[in-house]
Amino acid sequence: MRQILFNAVREYFFRRSLRFQQRAGLPDVGAWGLSINEKGHLAVGGVDTLDLLPAYGSPLLVVNRRKLLEDATAIQQAVKRCGQGSRVVYSYKTNCIPGILKEIHGVGIGAEVISPYELWLAEQLKVPGEEIVYNGVNKTEESLVRAIELDALAINIDNLPEIERISAVAKRLKKRARVGIRLGFQAKSQFGLDVDSGEALEACHRIRRHSDWLDLNLVHFCVASNVKESGTHRHFAQKSLEFMHAIKAQLGAAIRYLDVGGGVGVPTSKNMSGIEYGLYRLFGCLPKPPDLEAFEDINTYANSVNETLEESCARLNLEKPALIMEPGRFVTSRCEFLLSTVLAVKAKHRGTKYAITDAGRLSLTFPCDFEYHTIFPADQQVSLQDREIYQVMGRICTSADWMAKNLSLPPLREGDVLATMDAGAYFSSYSSNFAFPRPAIVMVEENGEVEVLRKAESFEHLVSLDTVQQ
Ligand SMILES: *Cc1c(COP(=O)(O)O)cnc(C)c1O
Repeated sequence: MRQILFNAVREYFFRRSLRFQQRAGLPDVGAWGLSINEKGHLAVGGVDTLDLLPAYGSPLLVVNRRKLLEDATAIQQAVKRCGQGSRVVYSYKTNCIPGILKEIHGVGIGAEVISPYELWLAEQLKVPGEEIVYNGVNKTEESLVRAIELDALAINIDNLPEIERISAVAKRLKKRARVGIRLGFQAKSQFGLDVDSGEALEACHRIRRHSDWLDLNLVHFCVASNVKESGTHRHFAQKSLEFMHAIKAQLGAAIRYLDVGGGVGVPTSKNMSGIEYGLYRLFGCLPKPPDLEAFEDINTYANSVNETLEESCARLNLEKPALIMEPGRFVTSRCEFLLSTVLAVKAKHRGTKYAITDAGRLSLTFPCDFEYHTIFPADQQVSLQDREIYQVMGRICTSADWMAKNLSLPPLREGDVLATMDAGAYFSSYSSNFAFPRPAIVMVEENGEVEVLRKAESFEHLVSLDTVQQ
């Protein structure tokens, strides 16, 4: 009886998932700044993506430079318009490839770093301290020295003991440190200092006691991920301004920046809700694809947040702080995609079809685990007729290495190439060399020139740090 019920429920959600996939129609590759060429192949900057694989290997991560610059410039201009000193710092952890970061800094965006390594990289890339925000929970002593010497815009305090630690380093260097305080609004997150219990205010008092060495320069929060409109940012911006008002009343200190963190989304991918994730894991039902229209334009987005700042400051009689945004996904998600090759197609028990590929979530497509990503063949004109349902699998020897479950695709053959979109947010960050070296990353220019940003790892590279090799 239970089994029958289980099967009926599964069947219902399964059919619903397929209907979603049918209704979503064909992917409009223009949403990623790409096109379909006369052969029916996916093209970037006039280059046939199928020509890239023989030259650079499969799988391959491909960056569309034009789209990268378009998205980076759009958010940079939208935030700059919010007034004196407002700025954008890119979240390094989202896609930490120097060749990509260089392009982002080239349009005037700074660096938001969460680790000593990322801080080091920002310094290597010559990002001025004025454009560096140092977040994270594991700030080593040496990295604090670097951040203070660079005069970072803010070292954001995530817990109370950091105050004494940063102050001690500043004192030793005889150089003041600019600090921020990370507000923790959510009980379910380990980050930041609790506002309601008074911990955050206590932190400000403590910073004040160290005012010989610490300047409180910024208030920060980071609560969202891939959100489609500004409501969340506006809500917490307002709460942060109320907090700034309390600081001003108690300490007389006006704070220069309000940093609203990351989380600005893109129209083309989405995070699964808890229920969607459950259905995907339990029944293999892909969720409804994102609605491309349900996305607030970035100018409207930044303007709305800025208007909230203006209104709240007027109400609280507070000087308006400059706005800082720390986007990761918005800047790089859409400009990069993954090409992978179908190695074999097989039908198993009860006709379940498996497409075995050279990618997979355990080494390359981890975000597809909890996010919806568009995946389609790059080498054939995609149609909605004659669809098959595939378990798209990776190259690692475990059934946990899927890329997509029950994906409706045109019939696949050995040698077909799949494109996985929105690979520019967290794909290479989460990638691993589980049994295979990581692939190359190339960037295609508008004129079709191809630049290798990162070479494919070699076998020798994988053992290069081992002291016993033979
Ligand atoms: C991850 C992160 C971001 C960027 O988040 P996105 O969702 O990629 O925009 C920004 N700030 C902090 C502190 C982060 O941890």
